[in-house]
Amino acid sequence: MPTQHYRLIGERLAAVRERIAAAAGRAGREPGSVRIVAVTKGHPLEAVEAVLAAGVPDIGENRVEELERKLAAMRDLGGARWHMIGHVQSRKASRAARLAELVHSVDSLRLAAKLSRTGEALGRRVPVLVQINASGEAAKSGFPRAEVQKGIEEVASLPGLRALGLMTMAPLTSDERVLRATFRRTREVLEAASEAGCLEGRELSMGMSNDFEVAVEEGSTMVRLGTTLVGKRPL
Ligand SMILES: *Cc1c(COP(=O)(O)O)cnc(C)c1O
Repeated sequence: MPTQHYRLIGERLAAVRERIAAAAGRAGREPGSVRIVAVTKGHPLEAVEAVLAAGVPDIGENRVEELERKLAAMRDLGGARWHMIGHVQSRKASRAARLAELVHSVDSLRLAAKLSRTGEALGRRVPVLVQINASGEAAKSGFPRAEVQKGIEEVASLPGLRALGLMTMAPLTSDERVLRATFRRTREVLEAASEAGCLEGRELSMGMSNDFEVAVEEGSTMVRLGTTLVGKRPL
């Protein structure tokens, strides 16, 4: 049973949906074009159960081990779609490819190649997003802006992958201009790659608890929400 803490998820979800709808409206978009990925990293299984019970099937984890552990524990209950949103070390690529419905965080060709090999071995194409370091911060993962177009082409050409779009993380700031510029740049890269025929989808995974409204205004199709939806992560 969800603990008291996680009982608030239903209310929080309603509030988040309203904010998404308002942001979508400001941009002339359909609220239904934005999917919520509930980020349960650091939270126990009860949080995943509460999120599913509230009606959100998309669950995001940033570590392969944690995703694996929770998925194994949940298997009988089912109903969840697992998203890998954090950096994946190459040696864990095969496990990520097997377990995740979508790998958001393809940040190198080396990782892409490993995921592709697993996809080929499984006889399916692993759905992925290419992560772009749109802000240019040194500490951020993702393809640098100058290399991303070529990176997308190379990822998309791998036989064991389906490249469905892009993912980015904005800088940790409340400066709306900085956030907006990061998200807008990412959308422009997506549009260019789409026009070049490189991508099989138009997904834009962008927006977290502190910046998802700006991300939706700038075209996000998947917001990755931890704190504002699931609550503060236990220490
Ligand atoms: C933790 C995490 C999130 C969610 O962060 P919140 O600020 O708690 O919403 C989103 N994306 C990635 C890649 C994360 O690691």
